Amino acid sequence: MPGALALPLATSFPCRVAEGAGAVRHRVVVAEDWRLDTGHDEDLEQIAGALGGGASCLRELPLVLPALRLWWQRATRRAGPVIRSDDGGPIWRAVDGTLGCCPARGFRDPILAAAHARDVVHVAAVAGAHRRALRHLVGGIEGEVDPLPPPMADGQPATPLVAAAWACGLHPEWLGRFAEALPDTQAAEGMGVLLALSQTGADPTWVRTSASDELLRIPARDPDGLHAHLVGLLVWLSWTMTELDREEPSARASWLATGARRQDIVTLSSAGYLPDAARELGLGWGMTLPGAAQLLGRWVDAGYRPRPAELVALRDAGLGFGPMPPGQAAVRRLADLLGVRRLDPSVATVLALEIARRGTVGAAQLALRGTEVRLASA
Ligand SMILES: [Zn+2]
Ligand SMILES: [Zn+2]
Repeated sequence: MPGALALPLATSFPCRVAEGAGAVRHRVVVAEDWRLDTGHDEDLEQIAGALGGGASCLRELPLVLPALRLWWQRATRRAGPVIRSDDGGPIWRAVDGTLGCCPARGFRDPILAAAHARDVVHVAAVAGAHRRALRHLVGGIEGEVDPLPPPMADGQPATPLVAAAWACGLHPEWLGRFAEALPDTQAAEGMGVLLALSQTGADPTWVRTSASDELLRIPARDPDGLHAHLVGLLVWLSWTMTELDREEPSARASWLATGARRQDIVTLSSAGYLPDAARELGLGWGMTLPGAAQLLGRWVDAGYRPRPAELVALRDAGLGFGPMPPGQAAVRRLADLLGVRRLDPSVATVLALEIARRGTVGAAQLALRGTEVRLASA
């Protein structure tokens, strides 16, 4: 535990002992069980309080104590991740959401985002406490209130990775769980991986194995290029592990081996497609694997979940190269015409395939007449 912030924690707080008297700072000690010792005779003060007087700190401190506790947890990096990113890394915010004190656009630098998340102004806003009261308490702490990371087990100063993680609000103990997924447990370049894992909870063993399989596959490069590729791969895998990857841990390596674009791989893996789907579609339409993955990805992005065989079957309709998914507006219009009440992905897919096959909503409506009952009750 970093020195000045160890419990019991000694600080001070301005206190007024009588109405009209000036405020005087006096010592306040926070015990390990987070009880306060103000030095006042609490019994006497209780009586005075009942009469409308007494020491002001006894009224004010309980209101600010939860904020102090939250601040302390964050300052000592005991609070778990204090920042989050909803877009895979470019933009970071405090986990508490965007409050009045936070920049609306968030932070590009996770270190700045974490510093804000543990700042007195932000913590007071989260805890609903008076900023000035929290500032008094934090300001009264004797010693460094933004501590450096603790030294390593062997007494050496923190490695660049530990220091970077600390700056982002992550305790060194937390790093150990993810060491397996790191390209190098010393260098700060592993920070991208750690930040991603802190957000997604991806399995570090899976991240490492999938990256290793991919590196075995790609042609030999110079060591620097290979390392940079490995780091990029680890970060991407850490951000994008899907349910499918948990069920079929080797699926991602197989996906990568198809040469499909990474964005298509994530889209299709998130929708539960194995690489065989792209293979089947590619064979059926005479497309490359990456091309087939991109086409299937378009259908998934548009909100449909066609089986590859269904897309291949569109060839019989005399369609040209690779059928594009119809827009959702067209599918909704067809649903209205057919009296479909609930447009879930499977019904939307049936309608979208029919529009693609017939060319227009009207033709699709004619073709689907008689199946309305089944679709409407779906
Ligand atoms: Zn007092
Ligand atoms: Zn804020």
